[in-house]
Amino acid sequence: MPRSLTSLPFLLVLCGCELVGAPSPVGGPGDLSDAAEPPVASSAPAVCAPVLALECGQNATGDTADWNSGATQVMAHYPVGVGTFDGPEVVYSFTAPASGEVRVSLVDPEPMAVDHDLFLLEEVCEPDHAVETGFNSMPFAAMAGQTYFLVVDGYDGAAGAFEISLSCEADAALEAPDPPLADVPCDAFHSSESESAPIQTTGASLPPSVADASWALPTTWTNWVDFNGEPGHGAQHEGIDWIHADPSLPVIDVHAASDGVIAYVRSGCPESSRFGHNDSHRECGGGWGNHVVVDHGEGVFTRYAHLAEDDIEVTVGETVSIGRRIGGMGNSGRSEERHLHFELGTSEEPLDPCSAAQRFDAVYPSGALF
Ligand SMILES: [Zn+2]
Repeated sequence: MPRSLTSLPFLLVLCGCELVGAPSPVGGPGDLSDAAEPPVASSAPAVCAPVLALECGQNATGDTADWNSGATQVMAHYPVGVGTFDGPEVVYSFTAPASGEVRVSLVDPEPMAVDHDLFLLEEVCEPDHAVETGFNSMPFAAMAGQTYFLVVDGYDGAAGAFEISLSCEADAALEAPDPPLADVPCDAFHSSESESAPIQTTGASLPPSVADASWALPTTWTNWVDFNGEPGHGAQHEGIDWIHADPSLPVIDVHAASDGVIAYVRSGCPESSRFGHNDSHRECGGGWGNHVVVDHGEGVFTRYAHLAEDDIEVTVGETVSIGRRIGGMGNSGRSEERHLHFELGTSEEPLDPCSAAQRFDAVYPSGALF
């Protein structure tokens, strides 16, 4: 802490202050500059000698009183600092990896015991190139690729141990908490985990927008099983099953039944076989296995369930037109043979694309649409 021309002895304990007290002649009564001067060892380097190249987020310990730690005694005056720093200093170098604010700090400084100050030298390791100073903390704007020299120097010969810390703006960004889930974009939720989804309630009447939209059959089939449920009660069968039992056709396409936007993609559910009882991870994806949900607007959705494990070709957020291929018919989840379980549902809340399988508020018979 510079206290130029201040010389009263009690000021040595006011290191949090700056230029306090009335000026008095240097060398007058109480000037302790001689007494505070440490012995100068002949081994002290005569040129600036950084002891370490500091990096963002790094701490280091040093000691301006210990020549063996790399202390030098070549800097006594800085254009940005008031007073004399005739005495030992420890120098670090730092090359900025990116442009942004950097802060050099003394960790738990003890200004009453050792009056260290900080100096920033730009490009050249000479005190005339000092551009910033600070008592215990020194923020500065670093330029990417530029090398700086960080000096810990004791005021008026003060010397002793210290800890220095260097933090960069970029570090703070890395340590920032994750954004809320709703802000995290998820192309798909990929997992082979089993989860349960409550049975969906059968809706009483379809929203009017369903009748206004165009609908097309989402796949081809050899057999089918209709929706089953009473309005206001849990559905007995929550959608239509379109079964394709012909093994000579290895791939059966599944298409969007109407225009919309992909709202949810679940992948990662295995199938033990394509044409028999699936006994692998049957409750994966809430029993729907691999599935896709399309948002048709005004709270109306369709779900395409039990898709083939490696054949989903849409991602969340994608706009799809009626008839757009979504993927291949499969046998994943709670399934007895290759089929498409197709649901028409409503939901007041949007589905979370980053979470496990989610139910609709209500499901409806959809056979009349096609
Ligand atoms: Zn079904």
